[in-house]
Order: sequence, then structure tokens, then C-alpha cells
Amino acid sequence: MPSSDAKTAVHLLGKSAEELRAFLESLGEPAYRGAQIYHAIYAERRFDFAAMTNLPSALREKLAHEAAIGLPKIVRRHRSSDGTVRYVLAIDEGKPANIEAVFMPEENRQTICISTQAGCAVDCQFCLTATLGLTRNLTAREIVGEVLVALDDNRATLKPQTNIVLMGQGEPLLNHDSVMAALRILLDPNGVGISPRHAALSTSGIIPGIDRLAQEKVRPQLAISLNASSDEQRDKIMPINRKYPLEKLLDACRKYPLRPREWLLFEYVLLGGFNDSPEDARRVVKLLANIRAKVNLIPWNPGALPFEKPDPERVQEFQKILLDKGILCFVRDSRGQDVMAACGQLALAETAATSAPALSS
Ligand code: SF4
Repeated sequence: MPSSDAKTAVHLLGKSAEELRAFLESLGEPAYRGAQIYHAIYAERRFDFAAMTNLPSALREKLAHEAAIGLPKIVRRHRSSDGTVRYVLAIDEGKPANIEAVFMPEENRQTICISTQAGCAVDCQFCLTATLGLTRNLTAREIVGEVLVALDDNRATLKPQTNIVLMGQGEPLLNHDSVMAALRILLDPNGVGISPRHAALSTSGIIPGIDRLAQEKVRPQLAISLNASSDEQRDKIMPINRKYPLEKLLDACRKYPLRPREWLLFEYVLLGGFNDSPEDARRVVKLLANIRAKVNLIPWNPGALPFEKPDPERVQEFQKILLDKGILCFVRDSRGQDVMAACGQLALAETAATSAPALSS
């Protein structure tokens, strides 16, 4: 079957069911064919019109001329000894860029970590993506594409449950419209079919974005990247704190309308000698008062940035102080350390390896 010209073809990935119905009507086809294509792409992961055998062959032929699916291309795979696969993906809906997605297999599920921007402008001091600067926002097509590429590339070993975490490159709440358009497809039972309870969005603390997310009918679990116990400390490692300081951020968290069985997740990267003291832990307890909160403590992995690994005893003590005050608190190791686990590290290495200017904005 002849394929469409990539430059003029309409890309179908990232389109909602309504948009696909309208597109099919514009081709002179019945609208319900749009719903069939929606199901074929997102639920069945058929990325070739020839494989959509429930469509008449004349329509498949027409789609091959007029349309394309438009998945991101895998530039490189890095496999870790723990099974984690980090992907470098090329995207081109706008300024070409390379982004990262990570596939983490577990016993009964897989977790896919995706990017929402190419690079990032938020400038957290512990994050290598920050050193890339911002290239641009990802489109809904590119965000959905990350998940579908990772699922398709691992289709032989997929477990029944898929989790997604929006914790890759970028600040999701600074790309709100595209992120929500992608999530409506990813969390739609007729679409990719991921449960909203198995999806998490992590923010550096963009208060207007948190307020907007609170209004969404279907939304992921919200995670806040906290990482400090005082404004003075947070200002130093997360400059966004000067715009949205802790008191206002935690106020927005308190107002966030949690549903039954929903929690706010607070991520706290423990930087040795900086934010890991018992006093820090006690201040965190106070900050999180009256919030249905879970805390993930992430001990820093030494790498290219000038922070220290925390002493394991301090990590335990920190956790105990929170647990003793009734705050659910877990210590998490980052996966795939041998393929560079910290946010943005892979993109940075790729930049160095290929000297591709598109990678770093
Ligand atoms: S931690 Fe997230 S928000 Fe902060 S600079 Fe890195 S990608 Fe951006």
C-alpha cells in the first residue's frame, strides 16, 4: 500500500475521538469510522492503516494517502541491568528535538516516565534538564506517542497494569493544554485505557496550574516536588519558589479537592548536608499539617552536579520522624542508575555524544 507524503499527511496521533470523527467526515466518510480508528490506534496500538482490517480496503487506501499516525522515532535505547529502558526519542511537530522516556518493568506492572517539554525553563539546581534550557512544549501527539512507543517496543513482555508518571523532562503544568489533551486520551477507557489512579503528574509547584488541575473531571494523581523545609532553602535549589513560596504553595495543596482514596504525593530529594537533618524533617512535618500527604524520600545519587549523597542513617532518621508523626513516608531509589537515572541526564549525555544543537534548545 503506498504511504502518504509525511509533509502533507494529517497526523492522527494525539487527536481526540471527536477530532477523528470530524477528520473522517472531511474525507467524505461516516463519522463512526473516526471512533473505529481512535480505538485501533490507542486501544489496539495498530500503527499501520493496512492492519485496521475492520475498515473497508478503499478507506485504508485513502488513509495511506491522506494521513499518517506520526509516532516519535526511537533514536537510541539504553538498557539497565535492572530491566529499565531509557529511550531517546526524536520529535518533529515544530522545532525538531530529542526527548526522553523511561520504561520500568516490575513484577505485575510497568511504569512509563514521560516528558512534557523538550528541556525545561524552571531551573531546579539538582536537575540536569535545567541545564538544557527550554526548547519548546511537547504537543499532545508527542506526549501520547511516548507512551505508545514504549508499550509497543516492549509488547512481548507487557504486564497487565501500566502506570504513567509525568516526571521526565519539563514542567507539565507549564504545558497545561497539551498535557491535558494527551491525558484525556491516555486515561480514557476507550483510548489507551490507563487508570487515573495509575497516573501521576509531578510539578515544581506552579500554583495556577494546580488550581486549574483541581477543576479537571479526569486527572492524574498530583505530586509536588518539595525538596526543602524552608523558603530560604528552597529558594536556593528551586528558583520557582521565589514566585510561588511554600506558604502559598501549601495553601493551594490544602485547597486541592482530594477525592476518596486520593493523596497528595510530596517528593523530597535528600541532598546530603543540605536538607536532610532532623530539624528539616520536623519542619516538613509542620509544613504538611492538615494535608492528606504521602512523602517519597529520594536519596541523592552523586553525579555531575555538586550535591552529596545523604548518610543512610540520616535518611532513616528523617523517615522515622515523619512516620512517628503519622505521615506515610517511603524511601525510593531511582531506577536504572547504570543508564543515568536522574532527570535529564540522558538527554545531556546525548547532546555531548552527538553535538546535536536541537537537543539543548
Ligand atoms: S526538576 Fe523538573 S521542573 Fe525542575 S528543572 Fe528539572 S525538569 Fe524542570
